[in-house]
Amino acid sequence: MIDLFVTEKVKELGPQVKKFIDDELIPKELEILSKPFSESQDVLNDLRNRVKSLGLWAPHLSVHDGGLGLNMMEFAILSEEMAKSPLGHYVFNCQAPDIGNMELLEKYASQSIKDRFLKPLMQGEIRSCFSMTEPEYAGSNPVMMGTVAEKQGDNYVINGHKWFTSSADGSAFAVVMAVTNPEAGPYQRASMIIVPTDTPGFNLVRNIPIMGEVGDGYISHAEIKYENCVVPQENLVGEEGAGFVLAQERLGPGRIHHCMRWIGISERAFDMMCKRAATRELAPGKKLGHQQTIQNWIAESRAEINAARYMVLHAAKKLDEVGTKAARLDISTIKFYVADILMKVLDRAIQTHGALGITEDTVLSFWYRHERGARIYDGPDEVHKSSLAKNILKQYGI
Ligand SMILES: Cc1cc2nc3c(=O)[nH]c(=O)nc-3n(C[C@H](O)[C@H](O)[C@H](O)COP(=O)(O)OP(=O)(O)OC[C@H]3O[C@@H](n4cnc5c(N)ncnc54)[C@H](O)[C@@H]3O)c2cc1C
Repeated sequence: MIDLFVTEKVKELGPQVKKFIDDELIPKELEILSKPFSESQDVLNDLRNRVKSLGLWAPHLSVHDGGLGLNMMEFAILSEEMAKSPLGHYVFNCQAPDIGNMELLEKYASQSIKDRFLKPLMQGEIRSCFSMTEPEYAGSNPVMMGTVAEKQGDNYVINGHKWFTSSADGSAFAVVMAVTNPEAGPYQRASMIIVPTDTPGFNLVRNIPIMGEVGDGYISHAEIKYENCVVPQENLVGEEGAGFVLAQERLGPGRIHHCMRWIGISERAFDMMCKRAATRELAPGKKLGHQQTIQNWIAESRAEINAARYMVLHAAKKLDEVGTKAARLDISTIKFYVADILMKVLDRAIQTHGALGITEDTVLSFWYRHERGARIYDGPDEVHKSSLAKNILKQYGI
């Protein structure tokens, strides 16, 4: 780890998180992933209780809220360790999309929403989801949105069609983005509203199969129809019409969270690739790692992961020091850069494992399936590259 970024808290907590992941989660991961999520709930709850008993619960939350009170940069370093196993973040209660919703509600929700929804979320008693993207409109330009929340008396009546609402299956509530002021400017039209998932009219149509895996519970992506879904106006998060401002506030840290996780996944895949290269014999005494192609993959991966980590920690430090808005371009840069490195390293690790790499006998195939979305969600690569390039070109007069 780069000394520049290592604080006293990280020195103390990092090895504890690593030990838990190595000794208590990784040995169970393939069994957990081989079953529907619902069937692994008891094992996962035991692991969560163990994390609590070790005093490592919810590193991103303030100490007052039952967490470890880390800043973004410190969290980034611990996050890398948690990401070395697919459910690492889940057992520490800092998994997307809940972490983003916790940060959002903590900052912008009324006290009654905090008491009802945020506290149990922080304690890991419930899960949540974030419902913005719609199949009929380009998610890359979310101001185009069909879902509406009409005021009727003290309520909102929500109608609309969403998809890729990750982890909606089994969630207690959704944070729904809906148009509340159709006459307002494109960025003032929408609001975020909490919809408990047991509200009549919250209709989960299906969990969408992802590369052959339907998934369930936390590991799923739902299509949802909101059909005359009535919720009180007090379920509004922040101001009416502030939906896009809040979405940006939520997505900035959210993108860094993903990048931190991708560094951990890349490191684990890299380690697996090296172990395989050092042990697999192509002929007596001739290891896979003796081949120059494999050596190239190892060297390139090492350099790329190091560079990506440095960029992520730098962006996290900047976010801590000057806020999400000022760190916007750094966040865009790491979002597409680290997603690309992740894909390359995973692909090389799989290739090095040969046929074994595409089986469920290692964790690589799970990540290959589930992380391909990294280049699409929270803004596709092309959108982030375009923002960065446009900003650079401004300095050249266009
Ligand atoms: C695994 C996964 C989980 C997700 N979870 C959630 C969730 O929990 N909640 C939620 O609301 N949404 C979620 N999403 C949706 C995600 O945010 C959208 O998929 C994303 O915003 C892209 O929108 P789209 O799929 O409609 O693609 P489109 O907007 O239709 O874009 C399609 C492609 O066009 C290209 N493109 C788009 N814009 C540009 C441009 N300006 N310049 C050049 N090329 C461009 C890109 O290659 C892009 O991939 C998830 C998606 C995935 C894959």
